[in-house]
Order: sequence, then C-alpha cells, then structure tokens
Amino acid sequence: MNFEKERKYYEPPYLQPRNEKHLLGLGILPPLKGLYKNDENEPSIDAVLLSHPHLDHYGYIKYLKDEIPIICGETTKTIIVAKELSGLSASGYQIAKLGKTRDLEIFKEFFTFRTNRPPSPSGSGITFNPIHVDHSVPGAYGFIIETAAGNVVYTGDFRLHGPHRQMTRDFITAAKESEPSALIIEGTNIVNAKVSSEAEVKSKILPVIEHTKGLVMAGFSINDIDRLRSFYEVAQVTGRKLAISMKQAYLLHELKNDPHLSLFPLYDPNIAIFKREKKKLYLWEQEITDHYDNIIDATDVENRQHELILTTSFYDMNELIAIKPVPGSTYILSQSEPFNEEMEIDFVKLLNWLERFGIPQYHIHVSGHALPYQLKRAIEEINPRKIFLVHTEKPELYKRFLSDLNMEIISPEEGKEYEV
Ligand SMILES: [Zn+2]
Ligand SMILES: [Zn+2]
Repeated sequence: MNFEKERKYYEPPYLQPRNEKHLLGLGILPPLKGLYKNDENEPSIDAVLLSHPHLDHYGYIKYLKDEIPIICGETTKTIIVAKELSGLSASGYQIAKLGKTRDLEIFKEFFTFRTNRPPSPSGSGITFNPIHVDHSVPGAYGFIIETAAGNVVYTGDFRLHGPHRQMTRDFITAAKESEPSALIIEGTNIVNAKVSSEAEVKSKILPVIEHTKGLVMAGFSINDIDRLRSFYEVAQVTGRKLAISMKQAYLLHELKNDPHLSLFPLYDPNIAIFKREKKKLYLWEQEITDHYDNIIDATDVENRQHELILTTSFYDMNELIAIKPVPGSTYILSQSEPFNEEMEIDFVKLLNWLERFGIPQYHIHVSGHALPYQLKRAIEEINPRKIFLVHTEKPELYKRFLSDLNMEIISPEEGKEYEV
C-alpha cells in the first residue's frame, strides 16, 4: 500500500478508494491481469508471499481475488484479522468480519507457516523457506525462494537493534548459505537514522515515569508488542498499572494462544483495560467485556492517576475532559515523529490538547528498521549476485552508498520487468 500516492488524491474518511478500479485508474495499483476482484480472467498468479503485518505490506490484499492464496506466518494472519475486526469498517472490501453471534468469517485463503516450516498450498508451485526476522511487529519473516534461476532472497522489513536481533542474524546466515542469485532488500531507514535500541528506549522511559507524580500517558503503535512490553516492564518497576486500550486488548486477546510471544495475560494484575465513554459496544469490544473484569473508565483513571500508565493516542484526547489530568502529568510519544503534512497537523492538535491540560510531551522512540551500515553489512555477508533495492524513499542515495560493492545493483522502475 502506497500511503504517499494515496495521500495525493484522497482525504479519508470522506474521499477514499472504494474498489480497485479507482486505484487502477490513478496508476496506484499495477495493471496486472487476473489479479483483482472484479477481473473476470482466471487468477494469473499462484499465491502472494506476505512478510509481516504492517499496512504498507498487506493493505492492498483486499483488492485481490479471494481465491488467490495469501501465504504468511501464523502470527501475521492473527494480527491482520484482529486489526480488521477492530478497525473502522472502511468502505470497500473486507478481509474478515464478525457475524451477529460473533462467529468469525475470513474471506481470504490464508496458508500459514512457521520458521523453516513452509506450507504447501496445493498446486502453488512455490518452494521457499521462511525465516523469522526481528522487526517492530511480531510475525515478521524473510524468505529464501527457489527459482529456476537460483535462490532469491527477500528480506521484508528487519532491524538489528531489537530484543530478538538473533532472529535477524539467523535469517542473514541462512540467506548467505543459500548462495542467492538475487537479493531483494528494504532500505527504509537510510536518512535521519537514529542510533538507539529497544533496550535504550526502555531505559529512557524509566526516569520520565519515575519523576511523574500525576498521570502518565503513552502513545505507541498497538502492533509494536516489544514497545508494549517495555512499557509493561517499566510500569512494574515504577509500581504503576499499564492501562491499555480496548483495541490493544483485542489484539492481545487474539494473540494469547501464540506460544512464541510469551505475552503477559490480559487478566495480569498489572494490566487494566481502558474503555472510552460510549453507549453501545461493537461486537469485538463485547468479546473483551465478556472475558475480562479489569476494565476501567475515565472516572477510575481520574481517581488513580499516579497509579497508571494510560496508553493514549491522539484520537483518545476527548477522554481528557473526563479524566482531568492533574498538574504533573506527562505524555510520552513512543512512535515515529510526524513525517507528512497530515501527521504534522494531528501532532499540533495533540500538542494543543496537552497544552490545555499543562502536560509536557517527550519523544522516546527507535525505528523498526536496520541502520544504513547494518544494511550494507548484511548485503556483504549474504553476497548475492544481484541486489534489488525496494521500499526506500532514497533509491539513488542507497544505490550510490552500495556502489563500492562488487555486485549488480538495481533500483527497480515501476512497470518494468526484471530477470533474476
Ligand atoms: Zn514493517
Ligand atoms: Zn514496510
């Protein structure tokens, strides 16, 4: 999903693409035959390999024919479905929905795998090895794909400064051993890269919370389970409870059976679930209120400000009226800085709310992507014949940065076909 291109033409929620024709007409979706829902041709591709559950990677699968298999990690599927069910029911197509009796309906064919255990969707004809990588969302994978022209390695998105960096190292080692003909690699963090780590983020959050006498509010992505864990651990050390949003609770509720995430249970005594003021609950919210009794509301937060870390996004700011944060409260923004006009406008509004209540704001964050020197080192180690640079805002810079390597470097052009 290309946010930048969509932003050029659309202004959600009143103007957004409703079907693939709109995006095809604008040249945002590639004009491939037999790929999209309303195309009468037979499916022209065997399957889609999906690396991880970030919207820029999976946002457009809803436009594909439902019978085209989506091959991804088990956790990736769980996160996509949970986010779809708890999201605003956007116009256009759905990936999944909850029926009246909360029965789950999934419209896509998902085939899931775990590390070194690829699925075999019948007749897909794809042979590949999925290997876990560390990224700012669980369930992220890189792939080694067997082709007639040799192995092709695709990195997905990855980092080397996270708590599971060993997983990325496993991937790099396996990629190297596969002696690939081609490497398709991301380069998201090529300028303005901040040298930090998840451990450092945690150690920076700690003194801010220790020195806060009132309410601590924190904004971070609900997908970022490692960040959530950092706040959970700091909450324990500082004697506070972590009050998470209903959306976050729903995601954790759906992920609770995942054996590899070692998540705290939602009924953990150090966790509370914050319910916004509202009259009618959605079906997915009822799932939470039915299962858990540690649910709190704005009045509870008002009365226990110094005992809580409340996860709060810009869209929760109306709740501040009822919460009435006391002087000495704090807001920690723990996600990327605004990087476009809309985000900038939202950020200014967030600051207006905080100003109104006298709440200082801190920015404590590290990106989910590798640093430039780490990307280069990974490329040298994997040592492919050809490199395809994708998922980067600075393709020319990236290419020049790598030009001393003895490899063929390709910055793909849109609509052009390349041979491995
Ligand atoms: Zn990502
Ligand atoms: Zn990405």
